Amino acid sequence: MVRVRFAPSPTGFLHIGGLRTALYNYLFARHNNGKFLIRIEDTDRTRMVSGAIEKLFEILKWCGLNYDEEPVIQSARLEIYKKYVNELLEKDLAYRCFCTSERLEEMRKLQIAKKQPPKYDGLCLKLSKDDSEKLSKEKPYTIRMKMPQDEIKFNDIIRGEIKFHGSLIDDQIILKSDGYPTYHLANVVDDHLMEISHVIRGEEWLSSTPKHIILYKYLGWTPPQFAHLPLLLNPDKSKLSKRQSDVAVEDYRDKGYLPEALLNYVALLGWSTEDSQQIFESSELIEKFTLERCGKSGAIFDAQKLLWLNGEYIRKMPVEELTKRSLPFIEKAGLPINNFDYLKKCISLEQDKIKLLSDVPHLIDFFLKNDIIYDEKASNKVLKKDGANEVGKILTDVADIYSKIENFTAKEIEMETRKYAEVNSLKTSQIFHPVRVAVSGRTEGPSLFEMLELISKEKVIRRIKDTIHKNIGT
Ligand code: GLU
Repeated sequence: MVRVRFAPSPTGFLHIGGLRTALYNYLFARHNNGKFLIRIEDTDRTRMVSGAIEKLFEILKWCGLNYDEEPVIQSARLEIYKKYVNELLEKDLAYRCFCTSERLEEMRKLQIAKKQPPKYDGLCLKLSKDDSEKLSKEKPYTIRMKMPQDEIKFNDIIRGEIKFHGSLIDDQIILKSDGYPTYHLANVVDDHLMEISHVIRGEEWLSSTPKHIILYKYLGWTPPQFAHLPLLLNPDKSKLSKRQSDVAVEDYRDKGYLPEALLNYVALLGWSTEDSQQIFESSELIEKFTLERCGKSGAIFDAQKLLWLNGEYIRKMPVEELTKRSLPFIEKAGLPINNFDYLKKCISLEQDKIKLLSDVPHLIDFFLKNDIIYDEKASNKVLKKDGANEVGKILTDVADIYSKIENFTAKEIEMETRKYAEVNSLKTSQIFHPVRVAVSGRTEGPSLFEMLELISKEKVIRRIKDTIHKNIGT
């Protein structure tokens, strides 16, 4: 039975790399009819950020990464970890360390000066059991695991055989003086107790794995299988950083990315199909995802490609759904959201231009506002250039013609407007441009006549007349 977990530490926000880890675990579980679990690794109390756990669950929900069992919270399981630490102490596979942080710091500095790998020098390993017992009543201490001094090998599904030499690895602290276990111990104990079959996580944890392998061995447990995912990189191949792109998933949500587009894009950061397919339904991702097709080399995070993909998803989305998803953005921009059907019509005229949900308010605001605002390009190019009088005349005529159209539909409006051009030997653009600007305040927008129909006769005429007064002054 496949059982995998996503095990974030609640240190603020979900990083895009964390989302990739969560997604691969989720897809692997669903592909194999297994279970996808969540474990909150909150034993490092110095890195805790209040509210981070709630935010994490909220964003997982937004992504639709549903988990199968009650999440495991490590800080509520201290007694369990202590039991296994005691077992290791009794078996003499771990020892108490009474060294002060000052001594450890001193030691580290010396090792660095001598160009040696910084590593605990084993001072407390020399204490007899009795002395250690006695001292433990008087002084604070940590507990360290004993690292064997030979080679440690394991298989990684993505990277093949991995070897580390025990002599280069620190006698890792497994229990801190505050009674909380460190990541290594809690992680191994929980992966075992949760019956995790595969550990799928980022490459930054690869060097921790030999320590985990030894802990499994010491506790007499079979380790799970491991798969370490490649690093995420900026386009210049440096490690993905805030300075070059947004790294918090919530920033993408707030900017108007769709979760399905984001997940589709993130799925491709280290995984591909043989035919390099780019766009996937979520069911297709589940069907096609395998760890065997995950790569080893760093995956470049290309924000432009993500934006393109988001636009593709938006174009394909039924307009009803797109409108629903745009509502929070429209509302946030202070526009009225009470007439859903009208909003739907506005959005449908702009759909092929929307790349982000946050583009929606700006693209449709002139449909909804009473006073339109002329953008600079619009007023400069069309209204205030030489010949404003001629534009004024055209707009006056058009307003008059429009007032006589009984059935104010795109078709009728177009017919009458073209007729006016023909009779007066005007180029259609001489009419279409100023009308668009007068009614929307912009030089670009959706199909002109459909736009006019949607804005409605009375408003169109009022706006044309207002424009004549305000901008041309005739
Ligand atoms: N708590 C670790 C993290 O924040 C989990 C690493 C693992 O999956 O073992 O990424």
